[in-house]
Amino acid sequence: MELRPLGSTGIQVSPLGLGTVKFGRNQQVKYPSAFEIPDDRAVSAILSLAAELGINLLDTAPAYGNAQARLGKLLPGLRQDWVLVSKVGEIFEQGRSRFDFSHAHTIATVEQSLRDLRTDYLDCVLIHSNGEDLQILEQEGVLDALRALKEKGLLRAHGMSSKTVAGGLRVVEEMDVVMATANLEYDEELPVLQAAAEQHKGVLIKKGLMSGHVSGLEGVRAAMRHVLGLPGVSSMIIGTIDAGHLRQNVAIAEDMT
Ligand code: NAP
Repeated sequence: MELRPLGSTGIQVSPLGLGTVKFGRNQQVKYPSAFEIPDDRAVSAILSLAAELGINLLDTAPAYGNAQARLGKLLPGLRQDWVLVSKVGEIFEQGRSRFDFSHAHTIATVEQSLRDLRTDYLDCVLIHSNGEDLQILEQEGVLDALRALKEKGLLRAHGMSSKTVAGGLRVVEEMDVVMATANLEYDEELPVLQAAAEQHKGVLIKKGLMSGHVSGLEGVRAAMRHVLGLPGVSSMIIGTIDAGHLRQNVAIAEDMT
């Protein structure tokens, strides 16, 4: 797969990124069927296959159970071969989510993510929105904290996994990367993608397969063609713990790019 620029960050990403929710969390998720969290061997095999197939982008978060610690332990190859995207703001404990967008919590979370991922820098950190995008950006300490961490060289880029058009547009103004939702049944955030394309900001797409609610190979192909053809998209993040699905997805992306 030919790499694409992540906006103006200087980071190059594969057009298909690997989402890692299922590496560490199987509660409070919206997938069509229940699943077992894969063991270390299975996670290692998926990561090695992803690398072999040309995927360099991993999307993770402290809210994905122990996904980050498992990546830290199991990531194959060299650290600099991977683009690690993490998040701040959502805390998932005892089967429930809560949110903290304070300055202090942001700093502490990034420091913990660095330890868990066994690295001294993160490529990108996204604010994990609870839906109150503008309120978070305007009234919480998280944005300033991320700017300070970037200044210190602990992250290369920052952004937000936003949930509203107004929020996404503000992210495009103020930050490096926006993670937006787009799929065959949802195109409300298209203005965010267009603004990001015009301003050369990075765009990551989540839920492009409607969290797995697509039917069959033809459904996956149509969904991926749709998302990868949208303006400004740097990478479509698809979560999978199935090697066959990973191969299929890469083959479809390669066909298109
Ligand atoms: P998604 O990528 O739209 O769908 C993932 C689901 O699709 C999985 O259950 C997977 O099951 C299935 N799948 C993958 N490839 C398939 C194929 N070829 N054929 C059939 N089924 C296939 O949804 P998502 O996991 O909700 O979102 C993707 C990533 O975006 C997440 O992993 C996460 O990194 C990120 N995300 C972020 C946020 C946020 O607020 N920041 C929210 C949601 C998601 P198998 O494991 O069986 O392949």
